[in-house]
Amino acid sequence: MEQTEWDVIIVGGGNAALCAAIEAAEANARVLVLESAPKPYRGGNSRHTRNFRCMHRGPLSVLTDSYAEDEYFNDLLRVTNGKTEKDMARQTIRESEACLPWMERHGVRFQPSLSGTLSLSRTNAFFLGGGKALVNAYYNVLEDLGVTVLYEAEVTHIQVTEQRFEAVDVAVAGTVLKVRGRAAVLASGGFQSDIDWLARAWGPAARNFLIRGTRFNRGVVLNDMLEQGAESVGDPTQCHAVAIDGRAPKFDGGIVTRLDCVPFSVVVNRDAERFYDEGEDVWPKRYAIWGRLVAAQPDQVAFSIIDSRSAELFMPSVFPPERANTIAELAQKMGLPPEKLTHTIDTFNAACSEGHFTPQDLDGLSTQGLEPPKTNWARPIVEPPFFGYVLRPGVTFTYLGLKVDPTARVSGPDGPYENIWAAGEIMAGSILGQGYLAGFGMTIGTVFGRIAGQEAAAYVA
Ligand SMILES: Cc1cc2nc3c(=O)[nH]c(=O)nc-3n(C[C@H](O)[C@H](O)[C@H](O)COP(=O)(O)OP(=O)(O)OC[C@H]3O[C@@H](n4cnc5c(N)ncnc54)[C@H](O)[C@@H]3O)c2cc1C
Repeated sequence: MEQTEWDVIIVGGGNAALCAAIEAAEANARVLVLESAPKPYRGGNSRHTRNFRCMHRGPLSVLTDSYAEDEYFNDLLRVTNGKTEKDMARQTIRESEACLPWMERHGVRFQPSLSGTLSLSRTNAFFLGGGKALVNAYYNVLEDLGVTVLYEAEVTHIQVTEQRFEAVDVAVAGTVLKVRGRAAVLASGGFQSDIDWLARAWGPAARNFLIRGTRFNRGVVLNDMLEQGAESVGDPTQCHAVAIDGRAPKFDGGIVTRLDCVPFSVVVNRDAERFYDEGEDVWPKRYAIWGRLVAAQPDQVAFSIIDSRSAELFMPSVFPPERANTIAELAQKMGLPPEKLTHTIDTFNAACSEGHFTPQDLDGLSTQGLEPPKTNWARPIVEPPFFGYVLRPGVTFTYLGLKVDPTARVSGPDGPYENIWAAGEIMAGSILGQGYLAGFGMTIGTVFGRIAGQEAAAYVA
């Protein structure tokens, strides 16, 4: 390993890394992929994904109708409050259209989107078998192309001399090897799984956050590059977090730990007090804000309470809820003060008014004289059995990253590095300053992974 000088060294083993590796290997570069996870956990956060967002001018594979560049771009602007690098965002959108057939040619299969909570049949192409099937398909392609993949290989340092990449230090089985290469693609994700770093950025509350994805995205390479003067983008104190089932594991709980009960429930904190309008909007739209709301509560925990009438109105949870015949008994089971919770629910029930409850639409069924109000689906919680779910913030990804140009080349202290490219989450802040549009993470990784692989291969040719 140490004797070989590789053409292109790819750091990471998720979607962006794999797209880069395929492109570089297909251009005849000798490619080495270094993935810090063991083989069964390969694929980073990408293996938890379900879909990618794709522009198309007419029906394309499983995508219906059309999704034009301007509409896609405006959707992005809305979620980022204008904090979007406009030219690169448009570039990503335009190039997404060619990605779908490229993905299909490389073994990714798609399926029509599910109806129900997330109806995205026009905008998002769903992977058959999810992100795990996608990364497995790409690893199979790499095997066919003869690419060397090293697992349990954590890159600890990128050696750069005068803006030029020379080698990586990589820890394998307790030994640090120096592996030389002519070009590097950095695709090692964000830093959310380094809880100490998260706590420095967010404060001690971050120690109670759960990490929805891989434990291996600890930002080791990101930190190393920033310490060497690479230009950063994105707010270090920001991360994308959603409210998930509080019983999810610390890492890698993935998509199944999401809870869709909030709009039909009363949500209280540890002190059995309500703190926000549970009925503000239809759920997927408000999914992201609840991560922050729960993060701001004492002990970063909240409890969502429903009655039997609402139990079937949302996607079932992976862990069964707590269940009891009275609110006081439910409180006891969930570690909440029983009298206080009973009072909070009674007060809520008394503030509900008559009206038509319509779970699929904003029904305007609102509380009267309650603070904070519940502005839709405010139906009294009265029919036993009662159910309770515990909610905690689940971090999806961090925003701090490396600045790249439209060719995915990383910006150093004195202009672009000669031979270092980056793709995926590690550079996503170059496009999205804040906020997130469902399915755009995989689009950024696919578009810029491919570009980075092509550019690195062209450099070494
Ligand atoms: C639960 C969940 C669901 C999601 N669903 C979607 C979705 O449906 N659609 C969508 O677009 N986005 C989704 N996202 C976001 C999406 O996962 C990311 O945007 C995307 O996977 C980023 O790809 P990546 O290749 O940059 O990073 P990753 O896929 O996370 O890959 C990073 C890789 O780098 C490796 N690595 C890290 N550090 C080192 C190191 N020092 N040395 C060597 N290797 C290292 C890791 O092991 C990993 O393999 C979801 C995220 C989560 C957590």
